[in-house]
Amino acid sequence: MIGFGTWPLRGHPAHAAVSAALAAGYRHIDTATMYGNEAEVGRALADSGVSRDEVFLTTKLRPSDAGHERSILRKSLRSLGTEYVDLWLVHWPPPRPQLRRQVWNEMLGIRAEGLVREIGVSNYTLGQIDDLIADSGEAPAVNQIHWNPQRYDAQFLAGHRARGIVLEGYSPLKDTDLADPVIAQIASASGVSPAQVVLRWHVEHEIPVIAKSANPGRMAANLDLFGFSLTADQVARIDGLAAS
Ligand code: NAP
Repeated sequence: MIGFGTWPLRGHPAHAAVSAALAAGYRHIDTATMYGNEAEVGRALADSGVSRDEVFLTTKLRPSDAGHERSILRKSLRSLGTEYVDLWLVHWPPPRPQLRRQVWNEMLGIRAEGLVREIGVSNYTLGQIDDLIADSGEAPAVNQIHWNPQRYDAQFLAGHRARGIVLEGYSPLKDTDLADPVIAQIASASGVSPAQVVLRWHVEHEIPVIAKSANPGRMAANLDLFGFSLTADQVARIDGLAAS
């Protein structure tokens, strides 16, 4: 449910942060070919001693790599030091519908070879997803999108669930006003930080969430979400921030 985001970490800071995240207990790591840090993520995983099958690893294909999906994925797997990733996403939609279908069909074939466990998309609209379903007969497992209290959209979430797609949220904190009185009041009542309230709000909605911190204290706090919960009323008050 709680993934460790690795953008925009590169080089030594990326290795250090992913190592610290694994030591802190994260078992879900989010990277992308575009981030230029797959080798550091791979080294941190190897150095950690955590077994590969305990970690849920996501990487993403740049749309500009359409037509080269297999070779790009093999390069990612070599950098990551693994034989498969758990989730492979199209990082954002290629501009033309025909190209979106072509990439998706290519990914379906690659999944059948066992190089990836699940395939999905990122930053797609439901209309773009419906076009893939109509063409291939298969929905993406996941749509990873920018999600936070201000962006809460019950209909969009329900649309994913109706299609059997997991909506996964990224950048939960960066554009969130952590000083917002609703969030601050709930944080104070629960004895946790505003960031923890925002992340727990994702958990209450059963939305897997990807947050990044290079700071060991915040990294640990962002994972420490299971010693408290939000009431239905608190969740509804945070949902309500979307309209304001
Ligand atoms: P984010 O995780 O919402 O925010 C990161 C920022 O928040 C950093 O400046 C971090 O600073 C700070 N922060 C972290 N924990 C905090 C806390 N407890 N209290 C206060 N500030 C805190 O945004 P993001 O990095 O854009 O997104 C997370 C991940 O999502 C990325 O790393 C990437 O893996 C993924 N992503 C995917 C896409 C896509 O198109 N699919 C796009 C963007 C991001 P410190 O590091 O100093 O703590």
